[in-house]
Amino acid sequence: MTSSRPAPPAEGDSHPAEGEGLRAALRADARWALEARGRYVALRRDLHAHPELAFEEVRTAGVVARHLRALPVAPGAALEVVEGLARTGVVARLRVGPAGGLGARRVGLRADLDALPMREEGCPAHRSRAEGRMHACGHDGHTAMLLAAAERLCAAPPAGAGEVVFIFQPAEENLAGGRVMVEEGLFERFPVDEVFGLHNLPGLPLGHIAARVGAQMASADFFEATLEGVGGHAAWPHRCVDPVVAAAELTLAWQSVVSRGVDPLAAAVLSVTRLQAGESDNAVPARALLRGTVRALDEEVRAGIEARMRRAAEGVCAAHGLSLSWRYERRYAVTVNAPAPTTRALAAAREAQRALREALAAPPAAPPPLAPDAAGALAPDAALAPDAARALAAAAVDPHPAPLMGAEDFGWMLRARPGCYALLGAGEGPMLHHPRYDFEDALLPAGALYWVSLARGFFVQTFALGEA
Ligand SMILES: [Zn+2]
Ligand SMILES: [Zn+2]
Repeated sequence: MTSSRPAPPAEGDSHPAEGEGLRAALRADARWALEARGRYVALRRDLHAHPELAFEEVRTAGVVARHLRALPVAPGAALEVVEGLARTGVVARLRVGPAGGLGARRVGLRADLDALPMREEGCPAHRSRAEGRMHACGHDGHTAMLLAAAERLCAAPPAGAGEVVFIFQPAEENLAGGRVMVEEGLFERFPVDEVFGLHNLPGLPLGHIAARVGAQMASADFFEATLEGVGGHAAWPHRCVDPVVAAAELTLAWQSVVSRGVDPLAAAVLSVTRLQAGESDNAVPARALLRGTVRALDEEVRAGIEARMRRAAEGVCAAHGLSLSWRYERRYAVTVNAPAPTTRALAAAREAQRALREALAAPPAAPPPLAPDAAGALAPDAALAPDAARALAAAAVDPHPAPLMGAEDFGWMLRARPGCYALLGAGEGPMLHHPRYDFEDALLPAGALYWVSLARGFFVQTFALGEA
């Protein structure tokens, strides 16, 4: 993934539901988020220490469900918690006001639960206790931020009527748990008008929030071509049908698929990442295997690449007298942000940043004592470090980040419902999927507040703008 340079905060593009009532609520939310930070740092570090892989997030889902069920809920609101969606997913629905009331709106907020199959090389006190598993993408932090938002919204629900659906999704890494949730009927069971995702991103300044209309993340497809020939003695190549030369030719032929077949103003990547053939220095092998991945930001470009790749493979095999077996898997959809939800997300981000800035400028309240279970080895620092507080106070919104060629299974949710996938700057530090990566705990109040701001704004505008 690459990072992008944020634009300065835009003026005159304020919250569509801007109002003193909403801002006052967010100021209280911001003070709460700073006070609650210690508890959620402890929770995040506990998740980090116990990473679980895709569709195996049993402990993590248990922590999430228990936490949600224990939340105090304000009078007039109700929280329903459902486990076991897409095996290890958890969904909680906060109902506010009369069910199905006129103008009631439903918003989905999504976090991901899973870790990666890799060894952690950093040495924080909350280092992974599971050999070969690691929260290297910050999903521990995403889960903690959404749980914090759920706590706040349950205790102080948005004004109005509607539902906030908190979606804790399994298996974001490689196995497309988001797709499984959608196919298992997530949105039929928990209907939402719009759905939102948030991912931390090192390289983007701390607390910055970036989202663009259109493709935010690429599709991710995977291919496998097996070239079948006739093996034999390397000194008698004319008696063989050599798949090695053809595999080399095909690798090069595919390099022109993007350079000659895709509009230079569109973006696409075709990478051959595995090329396997042969076992002996003096034998022509019978087969060669090519595998790799294709990324694109547009469905038409994506389909064109697949067709051209196949044509090139068939042509090269025909020219060499080889047979071809071809597999192309469209695994992750393009993550496409819709215009109106993106406007809402950016406005919510600006309001959240404003409220946090004000709360950080206020004289600090004494932090509440930590619960006994949070006071052990994973206990966090009580307060934000001064440089982190300064960075968060200076955080801005970027409405024009470059799209990223990495992929996200949230794209499947955005195919089912309009919404927006935003990036949350994690500042300097190792990149996602790096063995020394660790989620930046200073982000917990910023991310939680973004979610709360989004939910509040979503509800208020129902009345302010009279949306159906
Ligand atoms: Zn990842
Ligand atoms: Zn991730």
